[in-house]
Amino acid sequence: MFLTQFSQEEGYGNVNRECLCGEIRYECTEQPVMAGHCQCKDCQKISGTGHISSIALPREAWTLRAP
Ligand SMILES: [Zn+2]
Repeated sequence: MFLTQFSQEEGYGNVNRECLCGEIRYECTEQPVMAGHCQCKDCQKISGTGHISSIALPREAWTLRAP
């Protein structure tokens, strides 16, 4: 699970975060081009909640580091 909060100072770009256990890190260098919530039955079933939140980023703006 990723928990990300964007501060007003850092905006939505230049974010460097990690998952709760610290094994997976991700970096985002640009603002999302789109953000939204999907409330379809599949997303509800996968998440066990009412929706899944997602963002879309340019591929070159996203780096994932996992062992
Ligand atoms: Zn969906």
